[in-house]
Amino acid sequence: MTAKVIDGKAFAANVREQVAAHVARLKEQNGITPGLAVVLVGEDPASQVYVRNKHASTIEVGMNSFEHRLSAETSESDLLALIAQLNADPTVHGILVQLPLPSHLNSDLVINSIDPAKDVDGFHISNVGLLGTGQKSMVPCTPLGCLMMLRDHHGSLAGLNAVVVGRSNIVGKPMAQLLLGDSCTVTIAHSRTKDLAAVCRGADILVAAVGRPEMIPGDWVKPGATVIDVGINRIERDGKNKLVGDVHYASAVEVAGAITPVPGGVGPMTIACLLANTLTACCRANGLTEPKGLTA
Ligand code: NDP
Repeated sequence: MTAKVIDGKAFAANVREQVAAHVARLKEQNGITPGLAVVLVGEDPASQVYVRNKHASTIEVGMNSFEHRLSAETSESDLLALIAQLNADPTVHGILVQLPLPSHLNSDLVINSIDPAKDVDGFHISNVGLLGTGQKSMVPCTPLGCLMMLRDHHGSLAGLNAVVVGRSNIVGKPMAQLLLGDSCTVTIAHSRTKDLAAVCRGADILVAAVGRPEMIPGDWVKPGATVIDVGINRIERDGKNKLVGDVHYASAVEVAGAITPVPGGVGPMTIACLLANTLTACCRANGLTEPKGLTA
């Protein structure tokens, strides 16, 4: 059996189209343009690429993009002052502080200074608490993208055994909460889990968010399971630079029922969900109906 390949690129393009259509309606019917502010501190090359992509995607769906590039030496008080200004700005509906921050800045303090209603990354402690208690929140973009693809593939997730490998605050934990919210029976595995292979083999839905190239082989996958590979790992193979996931794709694709490839699976969904979250935040801020199918 060869798995259905879940095309994250096409899925993300569809989400962006839905967002763009909703944005056009907001402009026409309500005179409102959603706005996303992205704050970048320092010159980390990977972060610069992410911020550039976010800017281009935001403009593409018809939203306003506000970029704030600060020097690596920016003080915490200056950064907090900028965030306070963005919190108070009614044209800004979403605020994203690109991580990682330089080491002299306290990331938790900075993230928790964002107005939770504008926290489109879903990292503010209030949003973490709301998600954990099953209340309306801003949901972290990568797990939200995974959930959308899973719902699309399965319809209902109720009763399925889901295993999430990885317990980070940005992927593993929120992913597990979302799956629980959709009534999966959820196991969270991590570096101290005993017999990880056996745990993975029990999964109808296997989400890998580890950061170890091709760590999960096909014989850890239950036949017919859905495999969501969040990992993005850069490796050298045959003298070439290559991106691979946390799952050994070539063997897993022979066993799984459906699988996301790397690249072209979860990755493209993350920015699409950032745009969806910004639209959701804008609708909530203005007391308007939220876009259907673009939230948890
Ligand atoms: P973290 O490093 O924060 O967390 C990794 C998790 O994997 C930890 O919980 C760790 O366990 C667990 N782990 C590490 N080694 C093992 C092992 N041998 N067996 C079982 N579990 C293990 O990573 P992130 O969650 O931030 O990211 C995970 C991956 O997802 C990375 O490849 C990252 O690049 C990618 N990513 C992709 C995104 C996208 O847009 N597609 C967005 C964000 C991340 P423990 O807690 O015990 O140490």
